[in-house]
Amino acid sequence: MAQLLAALNKYFGFTDFRPGQREVVEQVMAGQDVLAIMPTGQGKSLCYQLPGFMLPGITLVISPLVALMKDQVDSLHTRKLHQATFLNSQLTPEEHRQRLAGIRQGKYKLIYVAPERLRTRSFSALISDMPLDLLVVDEAHCISQWGHDFRPDYLYLREFIQGLARRPRVLALTATATPRVQQDILQQLGIEQAVKVVAGSDRPNLYLAARRLASGQAKLQALTLVLAGLSGSGIIYTATRKETEEVAAFLISQLKLPAAPYHAGMTPEQRAAVQESFINGEYPVVVATNAFGMGIDKQDIRFVIHYSMPASIEAYYQEVGRAGRDGQPATCTLLYTPRDRALQDWMINNDALTREHLVIFWKAYQRGWRNGRSILDINELAAAGLDENRLRLVAVGLERHGVISLVERNAEYLEIESGPREMDAKIARAILRQSERHQFDRRTKLQALVNWIHTGSCRRRVLLEYFGERVKQPAGRCCDNCTANSSGEEEYSFEPLEVLRCLQQLPRGVGRKKMAAILRGAKEKDIIERDYHLLPHYGKLKHLTGTAVLAMIDRLLGDGYLMASGDQYPVLELTPKGWEAISLGNPLPVPPEVEQSPPKPANHIN
Ligand code: ADP
Repeated sequence: MAQLLAALNKYFGFTDFRPGQREVVEQVMAGQDVLAIMPTGQGKSLCYQLPGFMLPGITLVISPLVALMKDQVDSLHTRKLHQATFLNSQLTPEEHRQRLAGIRQGKYKLIYVAPERLRTRSFSALISDMPLDLLVVDEAHCISQWGHDFRPDYLYLREFIQGLARRPRVLALTATATPRVQQDILQQLGIEQAVKVVAGSDRPNLYLAARRLASGQAKLQALTLVLAGLSGSGIIYTATRKETEEVAAFLISQLKLPAAPYHAGMTPEQRAAVQESFINGEYPVVVATNAFGMGIDKQDIRFVIHYSMPASIEAYYQEVGRAGRDGQPATCTLLYTPRDRALQDWMINNDALTREHLVIFWKAYQRGWRNGRSILDINELAAAGLDENRLRLVAVGLERHGVISLVERNAEYLEIESGPREMDAKIARAILRQSERHQFDRRTKLQALVNWIHTGSCRRRVLLEYFGERVKQPAGRCCDNCTANSSGEEEYSFEPLEVLRCLQQLPRGVGRKKMAAILRGAKEKDIIERDYHLLPHYGKLKHLTGTAVLAMIDRLLGDGYLMASGDQYPVLELTPKGWEAISLGNPLPVPPEVEQSPPKPANHIN
């Protein structure tokens, strides 16, 4: 105990461990495999850096983030901890040679590498000769196809670990992992017996809010209002590159706010410049795609605004988690219009793998086949209609089925080795099924976030429950729903109950739009054909607008009275909570009206 504290102080100058750190370090020092789940900013790095310096042998850290590796090693060097280094594609061949030589001479205790490095023969040969004590898998959720940031290179880790002459203890770390992803991480790494340390994902200093808006115009106005109430540095997340530029231009021209766009289409120099100006406070606001923020060590981010909805609760929490790392209050606001959901749906559908994609891939593969290897040019495949995402899906699918193995992969090309099996129709079908499951899962995750946006319950509680954490009564600055509930703003009515009763009468499930149409007494062809107009509840809510009925249904989904499947055309179903509400017959909360943009005044000057 005292020994660990002394080491903490000696290497890092800290006087105390943060929640979870001590337990992870103790278990690792005792030789256990560990899965640690800790929120961003809590200090995951220390969990392996400290054992790394204390253990006699070498600690190998697998990290997918090239920029982060350099930052971490630089920051260790400034602490006079020089026995750390990294290997990645950004080194010159000379630097690379020197570092490899240094590793061979035993100059380093802590070595950061990108996952694809493990496949190069020179590196695995070198490592197998070294006394490896600890293998760290940072951002471990990347190994799971159920995670929000799956990276095929991570799939090779298990084989790498098993191939080592002396198996080191394994420490897997991540900020966000649902129970399912946690299970997957353990399985994929082959460390089923690992000790799990979950150190509170709760961030009591973050105030969480979501606003439902009718249109893009209403959203810009809401953004203006939200920003007026905020101060300090913040990030505004948008869905597309184009949007980052449009919103930044709006802030600069209309609000006179120094803001900079940031996205993956900018040059590395431009991006580094924006990052730098944001960290030193020159630009208080960065309007960015989700490419921004990973690995940025800025403690005093006071707000995160989601101008567009992310793809999942995992992604959302990771992004808002960048605010308020100094423990001071920070505000996180998500602005939602139904169009955002449609965009996400479109992206998921557009990403689906088809038989045609498999064929394109296979032809390119056979054409370039030489000595059992083939190099696929990504640009060439893109020209034939296969984009990088699909390419990744096809390649991983084929690798999983033992048809090929991936040797090298970078932005320009993919090097493949032929596997023991030929692709036949059966394998092709299996890969397509796998892709369907993947689509289903993405839709389910999107629906979970949409439900969270529409819920009337405590946002913090719903979030933490989603991550499998049991929650005590939330404390501190909480969320917009808790604020509304405590001020008695919540309205109740019997109308939502009618929605549930109507669903109960339907002989089969329908989608939310159809449901709204039935409740409003629409005379659509299939409604009449199916005799839905004869149901007692047909037209029961005809006095309400379509938007209001849809909002009511979304709220019932958000509060868990209804659920929707992850199919491409999801249908509504009553949950046990929904059945119970029907039998109790009490009024239920109604959502506040969706915010419209006010009409422009006549003398409005642009
Ligand atoms: P994460 O990887 O979990 O996002 P980091 O490892 O980057 O977080 O740590 C975030 C910050 O917290 C760093 O600046 C680090 O130096 C600091 N930190 C970590 N552990 C402690 C500690 N026990 N006491 C004080 N500061 C700490």
